[in-house]
Amino acid sequence: MTSSKEQITILGATGSIGINTLDVISRHPEKYQTFALTAHRNVDLLSEQCLQFKPRYAVITDESKAEQLKVTLASYNSNTQVLSATEDLSVVASHSDVDTVMAAIVGAAGLLPTLAAVEASKKVLLANKEALVMSGSIFMQAVKESGSTLLPIDSEHNAIFQSLPEHFVAQGIRSCGIENIVLTGSGGPFLNKPLDDFSSITQEEACAHPNWDMGRKISVDSATMMNKGLELIEACWMFDVKPSDIEVILHPQSIIHSMVRYKDGSVISQMGNPDMRTPIAHALAFPERVDAGVAPLDFMSISQLTFDKPCFKRFPCLKLAIDAMKAGGNMPATLNAANEIAVEAFLQEEIGFTQIAEVIQQTLSQTGYAEIADLRAVLAADLSARQLTTQIISEL
Ligand code: NAD
Ligand code: MG
Repeated sequence: MTSSKEQITILGATGSIGINTLDVISRHPEKYQTFALTAHRNVDLLSEQCLQFKPRYAVITDESKAEQLKVTLASYNSNTQVLSATEDLSVVASHSDVDTVMAAIVGAAGLLPTLAAVEASKKVLLANKEALVMSGSIFMQAVKESGSTLLPIDSEHNAIFQSLPEHFVAQGIRSCGIENIVLTGSGGPFLNKPLDDFSSITQEEACAHPNWDMGRKISVDSATMMNKGLELIEACWMFDVKPSDIEVILHPQSIIHSMVRYKDGSVISQMGNPDMRTPIAHALAFPERVDAGVAPLDFMSISQLTFDKPCFKRFPCLKLAIDAMKAGGNMPATLNAANEIAVEAFLQEEIGFTQIAEVIQQTLSQTGYAEIADLRAVLAADLSARQLTTQIISEL
């Protein structure tokens, strides 16, 4: 018998977004049922999640962990079927019994399953910004052609979405009296650190974000502000605007999550505590509203809301991303791949913090511009940027 509950696949269930998604789902068992949960390596957490949420499928893409997952689940008489091929991510994202897919794998690994969900006309909740950064127009074309509903999970994009008029999708935001989009960012842990000390920044310091508790890759991206750059690219594609339509401003308290400025002088923002369960619950229940377990925003305890301009000398990655989007073609995919390799090298202590931007900049300047006509071209740009960045790092 098909359940009347909304069937949900969570790609990247064991990550920070995946865990927060399950937390919201657990508050509404009458509404949501997990169809599939996926993870790369964290077999212990995936087992626990399967036993609690009883999905039809579990996918663990590190095949060496599949046996352990099967044995653990069997010992509890679980009915969850274990899959472990990379292609199985796309299978559980596009299965005909699935209504909604939370795309929360980190990095380029999320592209194909997220696209599979889009092409199968699912409601897609997009956390995996790298997928959209890499494939831009191809991704948005697939959304259009399939009629898939794309909803933003990134808190800034979710805030922008909430601050836009309802008819913006049909009319395009240019005909809605909008002046521009204000993309806010906290500035991360190094907003006030002396620039001379940047080269000695450690992995632990870079991963300790003042306001948000996130996976390690996005934490480093937040520290370099590449995250804001990726978000600017994500916003350009998602809302069909140009980099010049987006104003990036620093707002260290992370209470305002982004804003839309209208031609009549109005500025509409979305506010809330920095807790990803708010955008997750918003997108899951859209257009309804459900409890997310988030503490009410206490205005009396917020002493001030401050704003500042980002400095490209402090955050060169932000400038690299804006320029890559302006250049177009293969540049955003190249930027994204170079960043993934550079951040991983930093996390492995192979390069220093300031070398992340240097390595990405070198990769971009050594890559010739090329048009991106199809998915194959996206994957080719991604692969060649990975190879080039790896080579650049090995020669440092
Ligand atoms: P994370 O590192 O905590 O989790 C990543 C998830 O992806 C894990 O479940 C992991 O098993 C899975 N994964 C990693 N590599 C994989 C691979 N090669 N194949 C299949 N699965 C793989 O990351 P996160 O912080 O949850 O972020 C996930 C995505 O959401 C990122 O794109 C990030 O930019 C975006 N995002 C995160 C936050 C946040 O607060 N954490 C906020 C906004 C956007
Ligand atoms: Mg964000």
